[in-house]
Formats: sequence, structure tokens, C-alpha cells
Amino acid sequence: MIEAENVHFAYNGKEVLRGIDFEMGQEIVALVGPNGSGKTTLAKHFNGLLKPSKGRVLVDGLDTREHTVAELSRLVGYVFQNPEHMFFEETVFNEVAFGPRNLGLSEEEVEERVKWALKSVGLEGFEDRTPYSLSGGEKQRLAIACVLAMKPKYLILDEPTTGLDARAEEEVVEVIRSLHESGHGILLITHDMDLVVRLAERVVLLHGGRKLFDGPVEEFFTAFDVEKYGLERPEVVELGERLGVGFVRSIEEILAKLGGEV
Ligand code: ADP
Repeated sequence: MIEAENVHFAYNGKEVLRGIDFEMGQEIVALVGPNGSGKTTLAKHFNGLLKPSKGRVLVDGLDTREHTVAELSRLVGYVFQNPEHMFFEETVFNEVAFGPRNLGLSEEEVEERVKWALKSVGLEGFEDRTPYSLSGGEKQRLAIACVLAMKPKYLILDEPTTGLDARAEEEVVEVIRSLHESGHGILLITHDMDLVVRLAERVVLLHGGRKLFDGPVEEFFTAFDVEKYGLERPEVVELGERLGVGFVRSIEEILAKLGGEV
């Protein structure tokens, strides 16, 4: 479990988290809210990059104030926005191997982890390529592989599909689904409500450093006024309502609900 209890945080005296309570297990949680609402600041507390000025954060029972980022990043992997700025090695292999090598693993174990991580994101065979030659979606998947190679239990993905075309987005969505199925807890920071409805089980909305919603995705899009916070209801949700089939997450679900009528 990742648990935040009454977390406060200020940059240079300006409070940007104002008493956040939060918990998540091995689920997919979408963290949403307008720019500047505190999403990244909160997420950086979960791998110890930031420490609360008041309150506390526990990751599987470990208080982040008592552990280093290096220790915590074995539990919580953070894939930053625009991952290409993170790449500095000449080959995909070395890029993914960097973290495990730093753990002091044997070269055999490093190789095993790199292979496994690249396979998990569908990049097997890319070992000798240079990271800069990859497409946007491949770069995003490489960034996920780099973090996966540390075998974290939880993954934080910051805007993982921004700037990707539909096909690349689909591939990243599939990777996220399969990571979840293999037992990872995933915190998805995103502006994209279509992505939220496709992937998330729960939604947490931050606004002005406070948590204003925390509940199932269905409740978020049907009973909560998302537009009030500048967020759009996904088209598929609108369509499901108009067709009288209730809350749906995909066109396939609409078709299934309509059954023989189509
Ligand atoms: P979000 O991820 O929701 O866009 P952030 O957590 O990035 O929000 O930012 C929350 C607030 O903290 C914003 O007002 C932002 O300007 C401020 N902030 C973020 N990072 C820093 C920083 N390194 N120094 C000072 N202020 C910051």
C-alpha cells in the first residue's frame, strides 16, 4: 500500500498540498486535476523525492522520511513526462541496464532483467538501437522498461500518452494493462479523460492542493460535476447515456449491452 496521511507541502513557503489523505494498492488509480493543482508534487512524495512538511507517507509500511529515494525507488518507479530527456546511453540495452547495474547486480542478472523489462513493454529486439532513433511511443515504452527493470511494485506514470498518435497510445495502454494484470499498482497522472475511462478503476481529483474527489471511475463521470473543474466527460460515456445503456468504458461495451439490437 501507498498511504498518505494529512500530507502538507510548501515550496518556499507557498503551500501547494493542504492536507492530503490517500491510499492505493495494486490497482490503477488516475490522479487528475487542473495544471498546478499539486498532482506531480503529491506523486513525488510517493518515491521520496519530496518529503511532507506535515503528515506522513508510508510505502508498504516504510515512512518515506526515514528512507532514501534509492531505497524507495525499488518499490515505487516514477516515469516522468517527456522521458526522452532522461535518456543518456547509446543503446537501449544500456539504458535499461543502468538502474540494475547501479543496484550492484551481476551482469547475468542485469541481462535477465533487461530482457524481461524490454519484453514486458514489447521492445524485444531493440537492444542495440539508440534511444534517440525510437518513435514517441517506443520512447515512452523504453522509459517504462527502465523503471520496470528495478522491479518496483508500484509505478507512477506522468502523462504517458501525451503527444502520441492513436496507435502508439494503444500500445502504451496495452502495456499499462498488462503491468496491472501482473500485479503492479499504477498511479496514472493525466489530463486525458478518455485514458481515465479506459484504464482506471478509481479517480482522485486534486484542486488547489486539496483532494475533492476519490472514488470509482463510474461515480466520477456520472455523479460528479467534472466540467466544473475544466475536465471533459469522455465521448463514450456521453454516448452510452444517450443510448440508454448506462455507464460504459468503451464502444465494445456499448455494442455488448445493445446486444442483438445492433
Ligand atoms: P500539477 O502536477 O497538478 O500541474 P504541480 O504539483 O506541478 O501541479 O504544482 C503545484 C504548484 O506548485 C504549482 O503552483 C506550481 O507552480 C508549484 N511548483 C511546482 N514545482 C515547484 C518548484 N520546484 N518550485 C516552486 N514551485 C513549484
